[in-house]
Amino acid sequence: MSREQEVVEACPAELFIAGKWRAAEGGKTLAVEDPSTGTTLCEVADASPADGLAALDAAVEAQADWAATPPRERGEILRRTYELMTERADDLALLMTLEMGKPVAESKAEIAYASEFFRWFAEEAVRIDGGYQIAPNGKGRFLVMRQPVGPCLLITPWNFPAAMGARKIGPAVAAGCTMVIKPAAQTPLSMLKLAELMTEAGLPPGVLNVITTSDSGGVMEPLIRDGRSRKLSFTGSTPVGQKLIEQSAEQVLRTSMELGGNAPFLVFEDADLDQAVAGAMLAKMRNGGEACTAANRIYVHSSVMDEFATRLTERMSALTVGRGTEDGVDLGPLIDAKQRDKVKELVEDAVDRGARVLTGGTVADGNGYFYPPTVLADVPKTARLQKEEIFGPVAPLTAFDTEDEAVAMANDTEFGLVSYLFTKDVNRALRVSERLESGMVGLNQGIVSNPAAPFGGVKHSGLGREGGSVGIDEYLEIKYIAVAQD
Ligand code: NAP
Repeated sequence: MSREQEVVEACPAELFIAGKWRAAEGGKTLAVEDPSTGTTLCEVADASPADGLAALDAAVEAQADWAATPPRERGEILRRTYELMTERADDLALLMTLEMGKPVAESKAEIAYASEFFRWFAEEAVRIDGGYQIAPNGKGRFLVMRQPVGPCLLITPWNFPAAMGARKIGPAVAAGCTMVIKPAAQTPLSMLKLAELMTEAGLPPGVLNVITTSDSGGVMEPLIRDGRSRKLSFTGSTPVGQKLIEQSAEQVLRTSMELGGNAPFLVFEDADLDQAVAGAMLAKMRNGGEACTAANRIYVHSSVMDEFATRLTERMSALTVGRGTEDGVDLGPLIDAKQRDKVKELVEDAVDRGARVLTGGTVADGNGYFYPPTVLADVPKTARLQKEEIFGPVAPLTAFDTEDEAVAMANDTEFGLVSYLFTKDVNRALRVSERLESGMVGLNQGIVSNPAAPFGGVKHSGLGREGGSVGIDEYLEIKYIAVAQD
């Protein structure tokens, strides 16, 4: 048996409910595909709405005991999870590459990133504090405590199959919440494996329940409307997020929403171009462009445009495209045919409206959902990809002449997750950072994600923050006790 088959065989393929692995109602399964070949890797359980309710029952049942567990104990389970992920990074990365497609080196980077959330929140579990205050009139005392929100529903996308779950599970466990998590049907394996590993790390039955399903709406809506869950944390597209906010209104659920992006990447005339090109490669090509933080619109001052375009094109055309499991591959396939066709359509639309292809731009024949690294110049404001998330390896370049014009173009979107800005002028750096309408700014760097920093967006990019010292707040309620005092 090949190592690839071994890691797939070693991955649980059933639902994880109340600490037990079990088949879906009626034994239904769904196929998991390798996007680099289009062939089926394995089958996993396909949960029904009744299975979903069983998972919520388990989370509700476990909540009181879990909330009463000493914070140190919760922290140590998280710490052991971090250690196990680090020890087994090679196998976890291979499994991720098989289901998601990115090169193994990138999967390893994601496993490291995901595991850091467990380390970070292991340290946060023992720092949940409160307050003591004398009433202004001196006649009473206020005690303020923070308690777990209660059973949580967590929904994650396919693009970062481990990290998007870790960003939610880490703080939920630290805070003392139980949960039902539903990974994307296209990439369930990394989450199933993580549940197995957290059990080994000592997580008690019922705290983390995993359901995989081909009917995400049908299974999740009854849980959202159930009234026993108290929180929904979602990472995914804005239209689905909007629908889930509406569903959450009925039971007035706490919601955290990590939604779509349309990141502008600004290169001013005084930027260090080596740094800017390196930053653009990271901001554009991390995860093959399938990231909410991906640079979606690259705006370059007209005086440095030619130089920047030439250097970026050289770097992009030097990338090796192929199956993520092969040595030397820089770029794997997109997740599916739909995504590849969307990228193709967006590029064709830009070209029809006057953009020039500097490299890439055509889909090669063969199996798998590959799209080549592509650079487009002279992309007009009217091109669809200036408004829509590309989610692929396409870098659209547009020139600007003034700072005001650059900021106006950057903010001309309903999204507001992250912006990137390259300049050596400190005054401009701060001035423009303040004017950009986004939850995060990458200043002279093409990557902002860090478990110790508050990740999240404004406008249609979402609500709430994940990571940093505020990440745990999303899973805690504040209770204030008014104490009589003569
Ligand atoms: P998606 O279609 O919104 O799916 C995200 C998750 O929601 C999946 O688990 C999906 O399950 C589930 N889902 C879909 N419809 C649902 C419904 N009606 N009820 C309950 N769950 C439902 O997004 P995607 O295409 O997987 O992910 C890409 C998007 O995620 C991009 O817009 C990207 O920007 C965003 N994203 C944001 C962040 C951030 O931190 N802001 C991070 C990563 C990705 P199924 O796929 O199994 O149906």
